[in-house]
Amino acid sequence: MKQYYIQGYPDRLHTKVIAIPILDDNYVYVLTDETKNAFIVDPGMALPVIHVIAELGLKPTHVLITHSHNDHIGGVPDIQTEYPNIQKVSFANIDSDSESFQWNGRAFEVFKTPGHWPDHICFFERENKILFCGDIIFRFGCGRIFDGTFQQLFESVQKIKRLPSETHIYCTHEYTQANLAFCLKNELVNTVDFTPEEKQKINTVPSLPVPLRVELKYNPFIKASSLEEFTRLRTMRNSFRYEK
Ligand SMILES: [Zn+2]
Repeated sequence: MKQYYIQGYPDRLHTKVIAIPILDDNYVYVLTDETKNAFIVDPGMALPVIHVIAELGLKPTHVLITHSHNDHIGGVPDIQTEYPNIQKVSFANIDSDSESFQWNGRAFEVFKTPGHWPDHICFFERENKILFCGDIIFRFGCGRIFDGTFQQLFESVQKIKRLPSETHIYCTHEYTQANLAFCLKNELVNTVDFTPEEKQKINTVPSLPVPLRVELKYNPFIKASSLEEFTRLRTMRNSFRYEK
């Protein structure tokens, strides 16, 4: 059992987001508050999540899925067996660009973000500005195109870019060091620009959440001002190999 991490928010509900590392570099996130009700985001595995929920005495009510890749959904059947009343929230077939839902007295917005995988969606909680962005944005990077187009992924990134700059971004993978290595090799980022706090967070696990304003400063995929520039960067990133 790997160590898990709890991030608290100073809101009226005492919101917490728990990051549970699974597989090589995935995080399952659990959002909870003083009610102890909880929802689980992208459980690629069940057992580590069930363990944390028992340890913290949480009552899981919903499971949210950003997209149907196995490292995001692999644990869903066992979680449904463990918590027979849990509801799986699926917006994979939403027609309009955005929908919202209420959970535990707070509103979530859901918006479509294709490009990495066709059914990809992001969940945004407005009160604390918490974004679960699956595999669309990573620190200093963005998702790979598995089934989609550069244009779709570029437009999905633009949707995230338009959120409030104080948004707390929760990505599903810890890719910070690999993406930073890519950015440094191609002189897309200069480490002298990092503030001491930024430097410390970059070198911490988890390096998440990250405020959108920080990614607006450094992430070349978010900063890319045209589809052409975005396509060029994403293509370069595809052939970059990270050696630890
Ligand atoms: Zn994926």
